[in-house]
Amino acid sequence: MAPQNLCVLPCSKGVDGDADPLDVRYNVIQWVHRSTRGWSYGSSITDPRTGEIIKGHVSLGSLRIRQDFLIAQALSNSPFKDNDDNYDELLELALARIRQLSAHEIGHTLGFTHNFAASTNSRASVMDYPHPQLKIVNGEIDFSEAYDTGIGEWDKTTVAYSYAEFEKGTDEKQALNKILSEASGKGLRFMSDKDARPLGGAHALAHLWDNGKSASEELENVLKIRAIAIENFSIENIRKNEPNTILEDVFAPLYFFHRYQTEAVSKMIGGLDYNYALKGDGQKTVETLERDKQVKALQILLKTLDANVIAIPEAKLSLFPPRALGYPRTRESFKGRAGISFDVLSAPETASDMTLGLLLHPERASRLIQQKSLDTRQIGLQYVLNELVENTIEKDLKDPYLHEVQKSVNYRVLYHIMNLAAHKEVHPQVNAIANNQLRSIKLYLKNTDDLDAREMIRRVDYFYKEFKEFKVIKSPKIPDGSPIGMDCMN
Ligand SMILES: [Zn+2]
Repeated sequence: MAPQNLCVLPCSKGVDGDADPLDVRYNVIQWVHRSTRGWSYGSSITDPRTGEIIKGHVSLGSLRIRQDFLIAQALSNSPFKDNDDNYDELLELALARIRQLSAHEIGHTLGFTHNFAASTNSRASVMDYPHPQLKIVNGEIDFSEAYDTGIGEWDKTTVAYSYAEFEKGTDEKQALNKILSEASGKGLRFMSDKDARPLGGAHALAHLWDNGKSASEELENVLKIRAIAIENFSIENIRKNEPNTILEDVFAPLYFFHRYQTEAVSKMIGGLDYNYALKGDGQKTVETLERDKQVKALQILLKTLDANVIAIPEAKLSLFPPRALGYPRTRESFKGRAGISFDVLSAPETASDMTLGLLLHPERASRLIQQKSLDTRQIGLQYVLNELVENTIEKDLKDPYLHEVQKSVNYRVLYHIMNLAAHKEVHPQVNAIANNQLRSIKLYLKNTDDLDAREMIRRVDYFYKEFKEFKVIKSPKIPDGSPIGMDCMN
């Protein structure tokens, strides 16, 4: 599907001997070096009089191939144990991503927009944002199908709809509608940026960097893969004579490996299923996601707030000494509150803050109130808060390290409930339920003879004293994650 007269730069001698990238006669893919992570772009020059696409122009950032290589390096079991050159499998994953990305950007030059629901249709489009799709085979992580090859069923649909030429005398409108109704008949779904990007989004299927027909089942899979990779993680994940500091950087994308699938699952809670339906096209317009699916999504999401899941195992902590001279922390690194030493409490604090910001997003909270009012079987906000508190603040862990990690998570839970209690842009019913939850939490804490219980009570009391001024205390910032192996924002 590449345009004709394609020129991949640098090309001093192009298609006709001297192609200039600015020459409107040539479609161009330029490979751009950048100093930091960045997006790639696929744009086109169109004739303003007719809308005809005259030239496609793609910019691919070269540096971001590191991101995928790093993910593969972190997920591999001791790749550099015997040989520093043992990177073919890692490189193959990164190159598979670049091949897929090239097709994605060329898709934009042809006029195609993102389809963020395509990953739920067996990776039906190169116009989705792909997360590496991994499997567990005999207890080991299998990379062989991390990225898809070729175009998918949805791409064939958009190419046919946009570029098919019909025989003379064909009713073109009818023929075009037939292409869409056949796609719909095959179960193909289409949802784009405005529904998939917002953190408060509601579509159960439209997500960036996710996989699987069901977001919640895939999160279970992702958490299992993450656990296996963390268990295997060792000094053998870096090459000989590299500073140990590098190990911390390799570990960062593995620790946050669940971040995008978590975001996908959060949108199932208070979620909807809908289409860009037209009058008479037979598509489903809008339905609230069934209670059972919302309950399951919440149960799996709560695992990301469980110290047993989110704590870095004690046995791994000696892998992360203070950083070497010349290797400072960057936007790609873990952030913390413990100065030069690796902060084992900040990593789970950051991860749990991500989950809570999604789960207790003000728009989601308001939507839950609405759904419960229309169908009393729906879960509603009160249920979500009860389950959340029961699985965090009321959890009792005996292991001192895990207990401490859970406390770091629990403070975040408290702040995000306070946020809903004071938020001005939610329905007041949300404020009412969140304030009631804070009263219940206080009662529970009063019965717990614990220093942190007293501290949490103090913070709740202070919250009501300074109610108007409340802002969620910031957690250490999550390392940059997007784009994974580059992508585009257009
Ligand atoms: Zn794109």
